[in-house]
Amino acid sequence: MGSKVRARFAPSPTGFLHIGSLRTALYAFALARHEGGDFILRIEDTDQKREVAGSTQAIQDTLKKFNLLWDEIYVQSERHKTGIYEKAAKKLVEEGHAFYCQCKAKNAKEEGFSNVLRDPCRDKKLSSGAIKLKVPENKVLTYYDFVHKKDISWNTDTVYDATLLKSDGFPTYHLAAMVDDLDMKISHILRGHDWLPSTPIHLLVFEYLGGKRPEIGHLTDILSATTGKKLSKRRDSVFAEQFLQEGYLPEALLNFIMLLGWAPKDNRELFTLSEFVEHFDIQGFQEANPRFLQNKLDWFNGEYIRKLSDESLNSKFKIQNEKFAELTEEKQLQITKLVKDRIAKISDLENIAGFFWKPHKVDKAILGGNSDSHLTDALNIISNIDKWELEELNDKLMAKIKEKGYKIGDFFMDLRVALTGSKFTPPINDSIIILGKDKTINRLKSVL
Ligand code: GLU
Repeated sequence: MGSKVRARFAPSPTGFLHIGSLRTALYAFALARHEGGDFILRIEDTDQKREVAGSTQAIQDTLKKFNLLWDEIYVQSERHKTGIYEKAAKKLVEEGHAFYCQCKAKNAKEEGFSNVLRDPCRDKKLSSGAIKLKVPENKVLTYYDFVHKKDISWNTDTVYDATLLKSDGFPTYHLAAMVDDLDMKISHILRGHDWLPSTPIHLLVFEYLGGKRPEIGHLTDILSATTGKKLSKRRDSVFAEQFLQEGYLPEALLNFIMLLGWAPKDNRELFTLSEFVEHFDIQGFQEANPRFLQNKLDWFNGEYIRKLSDESLNSKFKIQNEKFAELTEEKQLQITKLVKDRIAKISDLENIAGFFWKPHKVDKAILGGNSDSHLTDALNIISNIDKWELEELNDKLMAKIKEKGYKIGDFFMDLRVALTGSKFTPPINDSIIILGKDKTINRLKSVL
């Protein structure tokens, strides 16, 4: 590539970072860094009505958690104060590519929001009001989309006279983003699919502003696996922070979304962020909308959990689970080692190992027919054991099972249910050793 690659992520601070936006940021980051270029963060906050307080900071905090660190940051409301957008809009008016408009649409509070195909003010030569784009008649506008790998065209008879500068002097996205992309020498625009219909407006704005237009690519939509529709805030987890709270590791979530819309030449699946940057290739973008497969995400997360050291997994459990954090350090680490191979997310700890700290409660109906003798024998052995060690416990229990002719599976299931209240736990003998002699005895007695 000739000039330096500069890709930007341009979120509007309207709330938490959406998983689709995280993906856009990741791809823009990789696109830039793969070529040794710059990754630019631009906060698009000129639509102040839609702004949600605190989200400019929240978006940055989230990006940092995923290590998507930017080289430069710009905030449009700050740039607005320099007059850059107003100046650009006025220049377009002077050159005959834009016009002042004083229409008020029904229900619109501001001028210039009538959004009709051909605005009645376009030939009035007004000298104040909102500024709108004077879309030329019968012109074909074309660009090559580097995600979809094809030319996309419109005839201007479908393109409306879009508002560029509102009557309060604030620019719309159609103006601010294009002015900035040129001014910041952006080489690649990578953005959500919802912007595709606005692209002809942007092609005109770029043309009229002059300068080198960036390459443009529109990412696919991420679909819910259950409904086949776009992910929805009401039905699905959609914010990056929600996934972190649910116990997904940032590395795992990032790896999962790398492959939601991009694929390597081989079938490799596991990529750290730097490996992704190294392997990234614009040709790898896929045209079909990907589905968000929860199982796949769980699989990735499990893989990344297994890669953590016991200590580091332990500290993640502590942050996530208050009750776990109250156990002794020694017990914590024992439990961590026991569950490490058996969980998909940090929050699974409560389900799989909660019996260590939750009040002991057993539904006796799920005990087997011989549970009385199973549990009485187990209680005897455990009360009289001299060495509190796994091997010793195994040997003694197995000897008793043999002596009495019990079924191994039934015996341990009763023991498991009596001690934990659940049929699904880590190996029960390991759990007994961690639970400790006194607690084990008390629990057995209370069931008996
Ligand atoms: N501010 C726009 C949004 O959040 C950004 C689109 C773009 O990347 O140009 O949808």
